[in-house]
Amino acid sequence: MEQKILVVEDSRPFRRVIESELRQAGYTPVLANSIAEAEAVLDNSTDFLCAILDYCLPDGQDGEIIDVCLSVGIKVIVLTALMDEMTREKVLAKTVIDYIPKDSPTCISSMIPILQRLERNHDHTALVVDDSITARKYIRSLLERQYLTVLEARSGEQALEMINSNKSISLVITDYSMPERDGVSLIKELRKRFRPGQLAVIGLSASEEPALTAKFLKAGANDFLKKPFNQEEFYCRLHSTLNILDSERNLYLLANRDYLTQAWNRRYFFNHQLVKKNTGPRCLALLDIDNFKQLNDSYGHHIGDMVLIELANTLQIYFPDALVARFGGEEFCILYGNAPDIFIQRLNRLIEEIAQSELTILGNTIKYTISLGITHAESDIHSLIHRADNCLYKAKEKGRNCLIAE
Ligand code: GH3
Ligand code: MG
Ligand code: MG
Repeated sequence: MEQKILVVEDSRPFRRVIESELRQAGYTPVLANSIAEAEAVLDNSTDFLCAILDYCLPDGQDGEIIDVCLSVGIKVIVLTALMDEMTREKVLAKTVIDYIPKDSPTCISSMIPILQRLERNHDHTALVVDDSITARKYIRSLLERQYLTVLEARSGEQALEMINSNKSISLVITDYSMPERDGVSLIKELRKRFRPGQLAVIGLSASEEPALTAKFLKAGANDFLKKPFNQEEFYCRLHSTLNILDSERNLYLLANRDYLTQAWNRRYFFNHQLVKKNTGPRCLALLDIDNFKQLNDSYGHHIGDMVLIELANTLQIYFPDALVARFGGEEFCILYGNAPDIFIQRLNRLIEEIAQSELTILGNTIKYTISLGITHAESDIHSLIHRADNCLYKAKEKGRNCLIAE
């Protein structure tokens, strides 16, 4: 979805540069050159990712525009030519996200990573762990200002319980001294299960203990901040920590998902717990599109690709409780950790539904069928695949659009 950014700036050349930078980065700028114009814009809509505001405008030379935007709940980044300490303090006291000095031509492009960070913050949930309610509320407000979802815990022990039951937590910000498990002990416990790229931790403490930073980092914290901290430093460290989390997530998905269909790939499949375990009931189905080469020949490779994407989505919907992977070409594998009866029933329904449905892709009406081979022996994964493959071969021989189970 394209995100709108409100830009209030009275200098025409500056407005032009901001507009073009934003457009290049894929945002939709909405421009105003005064408070009056901005108010007219806000009367219509306040649906902005954030606002980029010039501190000094003709109808408000002392940052009045900031309050206008904050009062309707818009996040604010301030641009200012004034570099004095007092203005800086005044701006930061106003719960803005950041302020950027207009001191070089690159100052505009330095805003883009901040905006991209804001967008991606929607995907993160932070757990703030502190026994002081005041400290928790303050950190919560800093995080929520940047679109993170925030949860709170008052001790290390409570934090562990919450992390166990809430898989969406990706960042922990923890105080050091707390009753019921301190911050360092919490991190040590977390690092038994989560790498720093999976669950990030930032330590905080007001303690004067000189070795505390090292203690936190050695226990596995991604970063550490001494209380009281400066808001800008907090955001810088928060951003670099979240950027690392995002890169790691992206790398993981790049390595484990199939590029075309976004289904899991062979690497993910063969590393999965259900594949590695050699006991308990397991059924494996190999699925292959019938006469897919012909479909490509008739409609073109691009439409063939869309059929593959459609099939991968259908499999995801049909088998949320199974491991579905694209094995290659037009072949998918479904591994199911339960008895075969219901699995085979569900696969029969899948065959029927696919054979009956008509896809409309780029004006073409496409029909296709699938064949499946299924096995459920208690043996290792390679022999399961081999046996399912033999069944699939028989299903093709039998005339396609069917399954053979052994
Ligand atoms: P059968 O019913 O025996 O499975 O016949 P088939 O034509 O489906 O099987 P064949 O193995 O002869 O051909 C598979 C085709 O799948 C050939 C290849 O071009 C096509 N294919 C493989 N990967 C892709 C892909 O990513 N996109 C598209 N569009 N086609 C692909
Ligand atoms: Mg404390
Ligand atoms: Mg085929």
